[in-house]
Amino acid sequence: MAILPKRDFWRAAWSGFSLKCPKCSKGDIFGKFLKVNDNCPACGEALHHHRADDAPPYFTIFIVGHITIPLMIAMELLYRPSLWVHSLIWLPLTLALCYWLLPRIKGALIGIQWAVHMHGFDPNHDEAKEFGGHSSP
Ligand SMILES: [Zn+2]
Repeated sequence: MAILPKRDFWRAAWSGFSLKCPKCSKGDIFGKFLKVNDNCPACGEALHHHRADDAPPYFTIFIVGHITIPLMIAMELLYRPSLWVHSLIWLPLTLALCYWLLPRIKGALIGIQWAVHMHGFDPNHDEAKEFGGHSSP
């Protein structure tokens, strides 16, 4: 088993959060909204090995909920607006935050998986061998 090169965890997570490839920080990680490119368009790094699964929506809901719900409760306690005012404020804000945050969290998680050689990002892993792809250092 080969010794894997150490990768910069925070730089990879930040590149992913910035929707860029965790290896080169130049190529786009996504081809469409949440569709990850099989390979980085700039450096060719294999990105299809990621297994973000349902972690991005979980963290998105967790973070957005911790932003909007306290604000919603504070507004209700301070001003007691009618329900339609609550709907006009919190529904668009919640949707906008989710739309903005979900791809960034998914990108960050893929960057973290790449940095720590998870799943197919580890050339010794069965998934890397199974798909015939490789994840260069
Ligand atoms: Zn790249």
